[in-house]
Amino acid sequence: MAQLTVDIGGRPGIDCRGFCEYCYFKRVKEVPPLGCQYCLPFKKGCDYCSRSVQEHYSGFKSFRDVADDTLARLNTMNEDISRVTISGGGDPSCYPQFGDLIELLSSMEAPLHIGYTSGKGFDSPKIAKFLIDNQMSELSFTVFSVNPLLRKRYMHDPSPEVSLSILDELCGAIDVYAAAVVLPGINDGEQLMETCQWLEERGAKGIILMRFANSRENGLILGNEPVIRGQRVHTPEEFRDLVTDMAGCFPQLKISGTPLWDPQIGSPFTIRHEPDLIEKLPWITRRASIITGSVAAPFIREILLQCGGGATVIPVKKDIACLITIEDLKDLNLARLEKTVIIPGRAFVHDREASVVLSADGVERMVVRGPEMLTADAETSMGMTRNEVLSLELEGFADLIRTINQYGQPG
Ligand code: SF4
Repeated sequence: MAQLTVDIGGRPGIDCRGFCEYCYFKRVKEVPPLGCQYCLPFKKGCDYCSRSVQEHYSGFKSFRDVADDTLARLNTMNEDISRVTISGGGDPSCYPQFGDLIELLSSMEAPLHIGYTSGKGFDSPKIAKFLIDNQMSELSFTVFSVNPLLRKRYMHDPSPEVSLSILDELCGAIDVYAAAVVLPGINDGEQLMETCQWLEERGAKGIILMRFANSRENGLILGNEPVIRGQRVHTPEEFRDLVTDMAGCFPQLKISGTPLWDPQIGSPFTIRHEPDLIEKLPWITRRASIITGSVAAPFIREILLQCGGGATVIPVKKDIACLITIEDLKDLNLARLEKTVIIPGRAFVHDREASVVLSADGVERMVVRGPEMLTADAETSMGMTRNEVLSLELEGFADLIRTINQYGQPG
């Protein structure tokens, strides 16, 4: 059975009825390519780090193009379709031919899934029944808050009551996963309690709480900080505690947070509580410095210490490892680094530039990429079992240690 993803294009913010106040694509500047794992060794910048990351779409694709592309791909598939997912840079609820699109895709008689919608484009309560009647089986819906005034003020939803009534009806009929970027003092506290209670009562499967980012250090890499001037941000610890509290109050609703944490699974880095699994990891036999983000660093250090002492884990001043850029590497104290440095697999740096920056003190250092993933964040773990997360972590750490042992310095 195969899955089909239908990309409708669209630009974040522009093809979703204007920017939400907290949108990370607000005021994004034309930044030069950042460099990444896919770049050629002699050229900084490739399609991924110069176009896809900045979501340079040219607007929604026409319905005809989407339909032709979908039918052409269907013709090349020999298997039955198990699921059809609608995705894009813009918001599917704002797609001009949304009704035609759903009718076309539902004719494939496979469950439909909307990977992300804010619901801002839904203006008629009849849309809920229409979706249910047309094979919609799962959808991720950015709720922000069930208080219509907050939805209107912060998401610029022109018809918040209608969007919420659709969400209400869908929660009772299909698998709904809600999402909310959490702005301290705005939609946390009592407001968040109300939102979680509302979702639990109506039968939503879960909600992902997303810590708001407002600075480069928090993870904004497209030159657009601050997203909201003067808006406070939760510390990672405050945010983890908020997720824990909410998950304790609403046990029927799966509540997890990104970057921290999934209380049901214990991730990220839930393997640290599993000595039997840690014993299966290779022993570290060489020395290397592991560069990572400030949230992951203590966890990675704790796990690697149990596998031998040759790895020094060094955090940069960036919360999220996957969003490390060359600027973060420039801020490091090079005297602390071994001659082999392992950077996160997904870091947005060009390998050759990283070697130059990390050898700027005259000590030639070898820069190697580590695994793509060492753990699952909440968006990834939402649909996974604990065992699946553990096996992902086991594989990630085994890869990391093999890299240390292959490229690290002896002794
Ligand atoms: S709906 Fe999503 S992509 Fe569109 S403006 Fe809001 S946060 Fe940005």
